[in-house]
Parts: sequence; structure tokens; C-alpha cells
Amino acid sequence: MTEEQQKEPFGRGHPAIYGLYLATYLALDWVSYIHELPPLNITPWNPASGLSVAMLLAFGPRTIPLAALALMAADALVRGQPVAFWATALSDLGIALGYGFATHFLRTRLGVETRLRRLRDVAWLLGGMAVTASMVAVGYVAFFMTLGLFPWADLTRIAFRYWVGEVIGISVVAPLLLVHLGGVAWRPIPRLVAETLLQGMGIVVTLFLVFGLPAGAEGRLFYLLFLPAIWMAVRHGLEGATLAVAATQAGLIVGLVIEKFTISEVISFQLLMLALTVTILFLGAVVSERRRMEVRLHEQQSAIAHAARLTEAGEMASGLAHELNQPLTAAISYARAGRKLAVTEGASEALVGLLDKTVGQAERADRVIRGLRGFLRKGDSRRISATVGDLAGEALALVAAEAGQKGVVLKAVTPSDLPKVRVDQVQVQQVLLNLVRNAIQAIADAGGRRREVIVTARAASPGFIEVSVEDSGPGIPEDMRQRLFQPFATTKPDGMGLGLSIGRSIVEAHGGRLWADPERTGGAVFHFTLPTILEVDDDVEAL
Ligand code: ADP
Repeated sequence: MTEEQQKEPFGRGHPAIYGLYLATYLALDWVSYIHELPPLNITPWNPASGLSVAMLLAFGPRTIPLAALALMAADALVRGQPVAFWATALSDLGIALGYGFATHFLRTRLGVETRLRRLRDVAWLLGGMAVTASMVAVGYVAFFMTLGLFPWADLTRIAFRYWVGEVIGISVVAPLLLVHLGGVAWRPIPRLVAETLLQGMGIVVTLFLVFGLPAGAEGRLFYLLFLPAIWMAVRHGLEGATLAVAATQAGLIVGLVIEKFTISEVISFQLLMLALTVTILFLGAVVSERRRMEVRLHEQQSAIAHAARLTEAGEMASGLAHELNQPLTAAISYARAGRKLAVTEGASEALVGLLDKTVGQAERADRVIRGLRGFLRKGDSRRISATVGDLAGEALALVAAEAGQKGVVLKAVTPSDLPKVRVDQVQVQQVLLNLVRNAIQAIADAGGRRREVIVTARAASPGFIEVSVEDSGPGIPEDMRQRLFQPFATTKPDGMGLGLSIGRSIVEAHGGRLWADPERTGGAVFHFTLPTILEVDDDVEAL
């Protein structure tokens, strides 16, 4: 998926889409034209408003005139016009402008993503639309009151009715369209499998129980409708939640119409439906967000494991190159001296030739080794600006399970006002992860009573942040203290002894230092520093 597609999952709109919008708007308005309150014909269910909000959110304020046109067409063709055309047109324009600006505000100021991928997107959409609908409702009704259509005393009652229809219509339809038609990532979810059929049947059966049992039980049994909706939201996240809510609302309306409920009863049911919608959508959003985080965590884990393997391999190769360098240089010198001696002492041409070849081959090996060391030194890294709190939080999340198994408590003390650092996230997390893992292992092996690892971050010398990893284990073994950071120094039967030396290389490549507290008695403490970035850099980066 390109960045452009991520930002604009619905693209830039198209005349065919706008035509389809108008036709669907009229159809929805016609279907939902029940229990209208004359003379304005206010209805308790306005799914067409949800369609408009979805379009305004997806394609921006340039579609405000189209939304106004849809309202006017519906007034002319479906609802009838109790007042002069100019008044209807003006009120419709007011509604379109209200929703248009509110959705624009949600997107640009509050950063709501149109595909509603995060819980906060759903929360802002539902909350924002509840507030906007109340303003639109009061404005709309008050406008007609100034024209003498209702007495002013009825303002709250009629505006409330209008609000209920708007809010429930928007809350059910807008998320449904935004989540399922969100451009590139479209997939028919949930797939039509046995469970989905059962879920659909669950909705039908509970609707039947609510409306099919002897009259009068409907209100008391409404809570049953939560059950299949919760099932769908938990299993399929927001995608399932939006479908469940839409199916329940459609079924509810059919039930209410067939059973010929009065308008005040319909409004009570719509308020219950609103409670169901908000609960189920939030539940679905939480489930979706959790799943996405699990996937991200898994990806990060494998990225770190991969990086760790690569770095270990690199470190081994670098150690080997270092070890081979000296004997090779010596071998080349000996072979050259041997050749000289052979020439001065008049040895056979064959011997001189052989010594030539020896020098040539040894030099070739030397070039290969030098090339390898050069390559390893370059090592590419991708740096981004990050807070130490986030880095530590994510690293600790990766070892949380291991710590839990070993009964070790992990704590992070990372003040949120620390300046940011510019780092290769994977590499620095690898350093943190190794320090915390070492600490957990030391505590688990020693089997003491206090079992905790504390990661602390604080502003150190100007321009640096110092991160400390402290544990309640037995401390660094006496014989390890001198060679702690040397490659292959380990006290563990299955250890590589590379973690700390790699960690030091990574931190130093970032311009910081990594060290252990040598005088420390009790548990071990490791510290490392990272240079902070200037605020100016940060701003430039944000642009
Ligand atoms: P490895 O974990 O593979 O042994 P490291 O370089 O990460 O490699 O660690 C080297 C050694 O340092 C460990 O084998 C251990 O003896 C010692 N060490 C590291 N961290 C701690 C700690 N928190 N407590 C006690 N000893 C530690």
C-alpha cells in the first residue's frame, strides 16, 4: 500500500461515486420514511444522514454542495416541502455545512482516520457526530420556528426527536460504510463461513424473541439483541461490529413497523439501539486494535530476533577477521622473506615459483578479510526520532511473557517530558532487550526473594539521556567484571557472550556509552546514554 493510499483510502472521488451516492441517499430516505412528524416530517431513523457523513468524511468539504443537493432532492421527492423552496434550500444547506465542517474538523484537527482503524477514530466520530447532530437539530428546528412552523415551546421536544434519528442513523451507517468500503484494503469480511451464518441466525432469532413473544415484552427483552452483536464484535472486530449493528437496526425497524408501535415507543427503542450501537462499536474497535497490536508486536519480535542474529553473525565474522588478520600478515611476510632467501641462495626456479604463489594466495586472503571488515564496519541503520519511554515500553512488552514465567516483575520509570532521541529503533531495543533478559536470567538463576528489574530513564549530562537497567539478582560474577564487554565472554552454558559487546557497539555507533556499575553490591546495574535531538530538528522532521 502506498503512503498516498494510506492517507486517502477513498481516493479523490469520482462522478460515478457521486451519482451512486445521490441514488442511494434517495433510496435510504424513502425506506426510512416512517413515523414522520409533520409538518417537517422528522423521522426517528435517518440512515441517509449516515451516508452523507461517510461521504463528507471520505471526500472532504468539497462534497458539501452535493450533500445539500441530496437533502433538497429528498425534500422534493420524498418528504414534501411545507415551506417555500428558499427556506427548505437554506435549511438543507445549513445541515450540509454543519456536517461538512464537523467532519473536516475531525479529519484535519483531530486526526481521525477515515478507515476508523483506531479506537480513538471511532470515539471521535461517534462523540463528534452526537454533538454536531445536536447543534444541527436545534438550528434546523429553531429556523422553522422563526418561520412560525411550530410554537417555540416545542423546541427541545422536536429537536430531541430530530437528534435521535440523526445520531442513530449516522452511528450505524457511517462506520459501516467507512470500514467496509475503505478503498484498497477491501475484503468481504467476515467471510461467509458457518460461524457467520450462525451469527446472522442469532440476530434473527433474538429479534424474533423480542418481537414474537406476547405483546409488551419487547422493551424488557431488548437486551437479548446485545448477545449476537457481542459475538460478532469479539470475533470479527470493528468489521463484524458494524455489520451486527446494521443488521440489528434493520431488523428492529422492520419489527417496529410490523408491530405498529407508536412514535414515542419507537423513539425509546431507538435510544436503546443507540446504547447497543455505541457499546458494540467500541467493543469491536477495541478488539480490532488489540489484534493489530498483537500483529505489530509479533512483527517487531521477529525483526529484533532477525537483527540480533544478523548482528551476532556480523560480530562473529568481525572477531574472526580480527583473529585472522595478524597470522595472515605474518604469513605474507614470512613467505616474502623465504622467497628473497631462495633467490639469494640460488634455489631452484620451481621453489621460487611456489613461494610466489604462496605470497599471491595469502595476499588474496588478506584482501578478502579486509573487504569483510570494511563491510561490517559500514552496517546500515535507519534512525527515527523516538521517546525513550516508548522504546522501553515496547522492549519490555516483548519480554513480559518471559518475565512472568520466571516470576520477575518489570518496572519502567520513564518521565514523559524527556527530550526525544534519534535512534535505530530495532537496534536500541535490542540493547535494552539484552540487558533486561540478562537481568531476568540472573534473577531466575539465583532464586532470591526480591525479583524485579527496573528500567529508569533520566536526563543526564546536557544533551544526553541515561537509561539504567537495575536488577535484584546476585550481581555480576567476580571473574566476569574485567571482561564483561569482550566478545565471547560468558558464564552461561548456552551463552554466546556477544550481547554486551554488540550492545556497546550499537550504543557507541549512536554516540553514547554503555557501562556497568563496577562497585555495585547486590544486583547488577547497567547504564547507557543516548544523545538527545534538538527541538529544532524535531520540528523540521515533523514538516
Ligand atoms: P550472554 O548473555 O550470552 O552470556 P552477554 O554479553 O549478554 O552474553 O553477557 C555476558 C555475561 O555477563 C553473562 O554471561 C553474565 O555472566 C554476565 N551478566 C550480564 N548481565 C548480568 C546481570 N544482570 N547479572 C549478572 N551477570 C550478568
